[in-house]
Amino acid sequence: MSKKKRDKFSKKLDDAENTARIRLFGKASKKYAGLIKSAHALEPTMVDGLQFLSVLYLVNEDISKKNDPIVSGSFYKLCQLQPSTKEQSLPMALPGGIFGSFETNRVFAEVTATLKMDEGMSTGNQDAFNEAIEIFLQIGNAPLYFSRYVRPLQSRITGSRAALECEARSQILKGAALADIYPNAAIPHYMIATRALRAARKYNVESKYRKILIGLRMVRRCWICGRLVQGANHFKNMDASVTGYFEYILKENKEDLRVIDGSAIVACMPCSAAITTEAERIAQIYHDRLSREIAILKSEIQNLRSKINQMAGVRGL
Ligand SMILES: [Zn+2]
Repeated sequence: MSKKKRDKFSKKLDDAENTARIRLFGKASKKYAGLIKSAHALEPTMVDGLQFLSVLYLVNEDISKKNDPIVSGSFYKLCQLQPSTKEQSLPMALPGGIFGSFETNRVFAEVTATLKMDEGMSTGNQDAFNEAIEIFLQIGNAPLYFSRYVRPLQSRITGSRAALECEARSQILKGAALADIYPNAAIPHYMIATRALRAARKYNVESKYRKILIGLRMVRRCWICGRLVQGANHFKNMDASVTGYFEYILKENKEDLRVIDGSAIVACMPCSAAITTEAERIAQIYHDRLSREIAILKSEIQNLRSKINQMAGVRGL
């Protein structure tokens, strides 16, 4: 009887593994989950491995349906199994058509680091970034299994590159928190970030933050109040028809030429906002006055029209 049960169990195990090999992950996950109860009685040492595979295939199922396993929650489920799963090598299917024997701990390391990076990106928690960086560095130059399919990374990269990207993301968040008020303090963070992104070969993202860095370094002088202003988001060019003559005057007086940009003048945000607000207030007055006049005109036309109609009625036209 017991041998029969064992044979049946081992057949079902083979069947579950074959289902995973042909990448029917939803089915494979259910098959492994269904084997856990029998394993408690027959092969208790296999229980944690079966649990691991049943959840791993939920992750793979999400990926094959183009769902992000972080968003769906299957990545968290897998991560939660780490304390109760002993270190072992298991035959498993991984994204990208891979099948072979892999270490559960290596999978856990990657899943944990990716979740920590995601936490850092959504909450700004620097400890989470640091933990992610440490684990990614341990994975080193080996390619990550899931990086292409999860939101913080979205590309096929190695552990070392993921660590660089984490460093960049953490520096960008630090820089962004400072940029509005202390542009000078934000600059070093963006410098480290762009360097790390270049090293991680994330050129598109690098160029985006390089532009922000250039903006942060920009210094202009306000034509109106004369203040020096640093950071592209703190000043504005306002069209003012500055001619060659005014440029000549500025040069003659040895004034700061950073008050103009072509035919526009540079205005700091408070000066430009004051002008814009006042212009809008005046425009509103004119708009209201015009609306009133149009209303009067309309009612006069209406009166005239009804008078004409009355006259036409009297004459019997
Ligand atoms: Zn100003």
